[in-house]
Amino acid sequence: MMTFLRQSGPLSAVLAATILAAPLSAAVKDPAFDIVPLGVEGGVVEGSTSAWLIAAHGREQGLACDAGTLVPGIRAAIAKGGFPAGTQASDVLHRRIGAYLITHPHLDHVAGLVMVSPDDSAKPIFALPEVNAALAADYFNWSAWPNMGDRGKPPLLARYRYQDLTAGSDPVPVGETGLTVTAFPLSHSGALSTAFLIRAGKEAVLCMGDTGPDAVERSTRLEALWQAVAPLVSAGHLRAIIIETSYPDPRKDAELFGHLTPAWLHRELSRLTGLAGGGEKVKGLPVVIGHIKPAIDGKAETVGTITRQLAEGNGPPVRYVIAEQGVGLKF
Ligand SMILES: [Zn+2]
Ligand SMILES: [Zn+2]
Repeated sequence: MMTFLRQSGPLSAVLAATILAAPLSAAVKDPAFDIVPLGVEGGVVEGSTSAWLIAAHGREQGLACDAGTLVPGIRAAIAKGGFPAGTQASDVLHRRIGAYLITHPHLDHVAGLVMVSPDDSAKPIFALPEVNAALAADYFNWSAWPNMGDRGKPPLLARYRYQDLTAGSDPVPVGETGLTVTAFPLSHSGALSTAFLIRAGKEAVLCMGDTGPDAVERSTRLEALWQAVAPLVSAGHLRAIIIETSYPDPRKDAELFGHLTPAWLHRELSRLTGLAGGGEKVKGLPVVIGHIKPAIDGKAETVGTITRQLAEGNGPPVRYVIAEQGVGLKF
């Protein structure tokens, strides 16, 4: 029962705040990033699957980290007053999303992009080479969908330009967003997923795709990622981590399917905390939770259980933020 109580008062009030998210973001001084959660779930219902609009603070054009849901998330943000009055969904799509970063080709991370592509503006898609190859082979292939890309089965409509990233590279500029990106591979039930370290100047935010714990995945990819970002955490330049928590505890390791639970998230964040120099270094670090997998019924219950387990578990003193579709965050 740690962090919430120490930092912000009674648990019930903090849980309410984290679920609403907005009161927390309002408290941030000197933000570096404006983030609009366009989709915050991991299925099984369409309409709010993973997508995050991330912009350098105050800048109109940003990028979408994953694109499982686009237009419904944009509409939700407009309805909640997240954009200037009179903003149309197409304005956001065309002007505020300058590029896509795709963590992995699962449907819940790309469906919005595929669906909206006929009405989208020309953009680059940044991803690891295997992910871009899968987009070209499995979606933009004239069978699942017309080929909106610039690779694969002709004719190439070339609205989207695939930009292959090299894992662990120097920061790569992302279009006209003023942001840069470095990709790190993640293990997702043996499949490749990606964490994107997105920088605005010295400041950074980490947008992570689906991932299982290293111990279950028999992987060292999270360890390598934590080592890479620990110096940024230590120096106070990592403004937030966006990460999944798909299922509540308890859940058998054999049934994680490449995902995290609150207990596993605590263990992984404890490893990052150790590498960053201890609890003081991560105190209050915003950890934005997405990709909760609600059942068809009982969504609020699942979100409530995960929220409670994150608050009550034995993890480092970070600040958990349960993302809500369309409710903007500033970090
Ligand atoms: Zn997913
Ligand atoms: Zn996935």
